[in-house]
Amino acid sequence: MKFIFVTGGVVSSLGKGIVTASLAALLSSRGVNLKIRKLDPYLNVDPGTMSPYQHGEVYVTDDGAETDLDLGHYERFTDIVCSKNDSISSGKIYSSIIDKERKGVYLGSTVQVIPHVTEEIKSFIKLSVKEKEVVICEIGGTVGDIESLPFLEAIRQFKNEKPKDTLLIHLTLLPFIEGSGELKTKPTQHSVKELLNSGIQPDIIVCRSSKKISDDELSKISLFCNVSKQSVIPSYDVPSIYKVPSLLSKSKLDEIVIKKLSIKTPKKMDLTKWKKFEYLESVTKEELKILIIGKYINLKDSYKSLYEAIYHAGVQNKLKIKIEWLDSELINSKNAKNLLNEANGILIPGGFGNRGILGKIEAIKYARENNIPFLGICLGMQLAIIEYCRNVLKIKNVGSSEFGNFKNNVVSLMTEWSHKKIIVKRNKSSDMGASMRLGSYPCFILKNSLAHKVYKKLKINERHRHRYEVNPKLRKIIEKNDMKFSGFSKDKNLLEIVENSNHPWFLGVQFHPELKSKPFKPHPIFLSFIKSSNIKKNEQKN
Ligand code: GLN
Repeated sequence: MKFIFVTGGVVSSLGKGIVTASLAALLSSRGVNLKIRKLDPYLNVDPGTMSPYQHGEVYVTDDGAETDLDLGHYERFTDIVCSKNDSISSGKIYSSIIDKERKGVYLGSTVQVIPHVTEEIKSFIKLSVKEKEVVICEIGGTVGDIESLPFLEAIRQFKNEKPKDTLLIHLTLLPFIEGSGELKTKPTQHSVKELLNSGIQPDIIVCRSSKKISDDELSKISLFCNVSKQSVIPSYDVPSIYKVPSLLSKSKLDEIVIKKLSIKTPKKMDLTKWKKFEYLESVTKEELKILIIGKYINLKDSYKSLYEAIYHAGVQNKLKIKIEWLDSELINSKNAKNLLNEANGILIPGGFGNRGILGKIEAIKYARENNIPFLGICLGMQLAIIEYCRNVLKIKNVGSSEFGNFKNNVVSLMTEWSHKKIIVKRNKSSDMGASMRLGSYPCFILKNSLAHKVYKKLKINERHRHRYEVNPKLRKIIEKNDMKFSGFSKDKNLLEIVENSNHPWFLGVQFHPELKSKPFKPHPIFLSFIKSSNIKKNEQKN
């Protein structure tokens, strides 16, 4: 078993997750059996309860864990399926320790950071790892943060216990100073010094830079940071994250890692699919405008997977997608009117709480009445049904119990249905998430529906993250006109896809299809949504 740790220095947001995912992609293209894990120093047990403003998107795994968005990159860049064991936070470590302490597991000893916390970190890193595997662990945050110290200490111990099987990669920034026209290596030197304070000497330094790093600069980093020159790897800014694997392979990152850890590689490197994707990216031409109406529009990381899924589908359709964002609370502004007017497709993503709901409902009405392709995800689907009940079926006082007291809740908690027979597994890991439907569930599709056309299958598996459901007792009322359900749980009690037969492309899904889209395998829903938005655009032109 080999362990690779990836730390970051100088500043955050250097793309540590992308470097980690790219290294994993390069190694797995040579047939190496891998696991990728994210170790986050914050004290939340998982990001499930964190605001998307602070933490970005909550990425949900098949097995129902609410994890860091970097796991999304790992899954998009490789064929690896991440699980709850691959997302580890200080909160998770401490809560496990405190649990054990209460049960008397420590037999009277004083529970301390060293050895108890560090041992717990090490055992989480080694959890369910098979013999042949290489485990890549990305450490969240930046070296020098107080919270990271126990993690760095655990890595130091790892290296000490298994020097030949442990490798440390440190990612830093070489800032470019306009005035002198120079790249600066000093922050990198300081960052490595900071690591040395924790007893860790990096084996490889990956240097993020916007300008070409000269031979002299590479030599300088090598000399001052005590790594061989070929282990100083440039990582240049590129217009697309999907170019990073080939970029790092050109810099020989994977070769050096393989050599240093003596990793056995069953296959020759094959980057054909990456090259093909890069080619497709380079030939995208016509612009398509997709309007997303959401709440967290100022931080794009809040909708990371969504953004990627749209991008994948755009590239596959050879279309440059211009994503426009509209704050749902500003639906009545002049700018909003223009955005709606110019949109080739409209999308309402998942969300929580009642802020901005009316604006989203307005936008759905606009898409429905103007035949603009519409995709509603999770909350977007629930709102599509509410919009329809209010504006087409003219049901009075209709809404979701999430937003207030309505007489007619078409969307509500299952406990509010008074529908005794329904048994659906719910995650019980935390109080806030106790009632959440999390992770992958099968969904059965109605023959000859739009959903059937899109998926070309009658059974699919998609990932969920929601508390509320459409009340199946009201199905007949909702389906009175042209709104039809076309995806169901096995027992038919959960209504998971809705579509409008009187519209060119109108789909609402209770799950999150964006979590399963990959560059080489764009999600069928997004492919079809983008395609029909393009058809709409061409119609508008003529
Ligand atoms: N707030 C809604 C619910 O909990 C939708 C959640 C979501 O969009 N992910 O059911």
